[in-house]
Amino acid sequence: MANKYGIPNKVEKKIRKRDMPYCVYCHKRMTIPKRGGSRRNWATIEHLNERGPDFWDEKWNGIRLNENNLAICCFSCNASRGQLNLYKWFTSSYCMDRKVKIGKNTVASPVKKFLRKYIYSKQ
Ligand SMILES: [Zn+2]
Repeated sequence: MANKYGIPNKVEKKIRKRDMPYCVYCHKRMTIPKRGGSRRNWATIEHLNERGPDFWDEKWNGIRLNENNLAICCFSCNASRGQLNLYKWFTSSYCMDRKVKIGKNTVASPVKKFLRKYIYSKQ
């Protein structure tokens, strides 16, 4: 079984267990979607590769969605990043204009691991 994004249930369970309740980017405490609270704090599934699942199928033959390329982040980080390359997003005002900047050294370890493993266009 897989969810509507094609992510196997056991992978989703694993990343929720690993990443909840804090956003992997801004470290704020997230809430379960639709159970009240501000939408900005909702926990969402994040594809660490900016091009999402299609990219994996097309260019990274054999590399499927798994706990190494997925994470849980808050709705506002997810929406802010959109389709941006992580390095590019780190230079946005969303990441820069805060007390603790969001960047390669401040993100949670699953994201750091991803960045180390897949050095894709460092713009
Ligand atoms: Zn966040």
